[in-house]
Amino acid sequence: PIVLGIESTCDETAAAVVQGRTLISNVVASSMDEHARYGGVIPEIASRAHAEAFVPCVSKALADANMTLSDVDAIAVSAGPGLAGCLAVGVSGAKSLAWAANKPIYGINHVIGHIAVTQLQFGPFPEDTLALIVSGGHTSLLHVEDVAHHIDVVGTTLDDAAGECFDKVARLLGFPYPGGPHIDRHAQLGDPHAIKVPQGLTQGKAGQQHPYDFSFSGVKTAVARWIEEQQAQGNEIPVDDVCASLADSVATVLAKKAMRGCEQYGSKTLIVGGGFSANSQLRAKLLEVGVEHGVEVRVPQLKLCTDNGAMVAMLGVNLVEAGVAPSNLDFAIDSAMPLTKISM
Ligand code: ATP
Ligand code: MG
Ligand code: FE
Repeated sequence: PIVLGIESTCDETAAAVVQGRTLISNVVASSMDEHARYGGVIPEIASRAHAEAFVPCVSKALADANMTLSDVDAIAVSAGPGLAGCLAVGVSGAKSLAWAANKPIYGINHVIGHIAVTQLQFGPFPEDTLALIVSGGHTSLLHVEDVAHHIDVVGTTLDDAAGECFDKVARLLGFPYPGGPHIDRHAQLGDPHAIKVPQGLTQGKAGQQHPYDFSFSGVKTAVARWIEEQQAQGNEIPVDDVCASLADSVATVLAKKAMRGCEQYGSKTLIVGGGFSANSQLRAKLLEVGVEHGVEVRVPQLKLCTDNGAMVAMLGVNLVEAGVAPSNLDFAIDSAMPLTKISM
């Protein structure tokens, strides 16, 4: 099937056409430049930008694919999770197209799209696949039984997401928002063992076991405290070493728990997805432990890690192929859509 995918959960307005497992076109417009000076995404500004970029993005995705709306079999759009105003623009636009062209529409889960997109590079999911979702808003380990019908949450962060932790430390170090990529770049120049950064929740709190859960708020606090101490003593902050030590700690705990999960579920494949999977320290660590454990690690190419329309279209193809009923035209957006809900 041919599916047009539309994305507007946060600051990216994106549209793409996917046919089967082939990416035909992929257009992304971002309003991040307008948010950077505020130190975070401003929902009102992002919503307005979506309203402006929606038609140009969709038109270009169709033109690049040499298609018109009548050529697609279905439209898929992110229905959540995300910023409500942003979702409303993309979902309303997508519904209008579906109504006008009389095409089925699927309101899909953006985060599951981050997993689905790996099929464009690596083909369909093997049985008993585990997925590590690492993004600005999520850090979770999922068991993908059937991407169109059934996903289980194996573990999740009890507080901050990994990307959020990077962005917060980046702010302390004076990097512009989003700081994740800056930490990545500086980490490549530093010593990962220079500073002792705790690994979030390796043991579990007060005797409780959280073998697959994560916690990154303490990691951020530990780094913040260390920086304050150095400043109080008048020491210069070794930025590269701080970044390298933080990145090593976060990548190590994510890789360790992902491999523990693969062992438990007898999974030989680990799918990685979400904006934070662009992080070079995490990519290197996962590929390294994958070889050690005999697990094939599927990390998407960089342009498919961050938010895009291809991930939405790919999950749409999965739903069409599986014969899942399309969403009704009056489906709601869900800014807190749970990971177990794949489509509306
Ligand atoms: P969600 O998908 O959970 O709704 P989101 O869409 O806001 O959240 P993404 O766009 O998938 O998140 O990812 C953005 C996050 O990825 C930000 O926290 C950003 O700092 C981080 N990020 C992007 N590239 C890198 C990198 N190279 N190293 C570290 N972090 C990165
Ligand atoms: Mg974004
Ligand atoms: Fe995302």
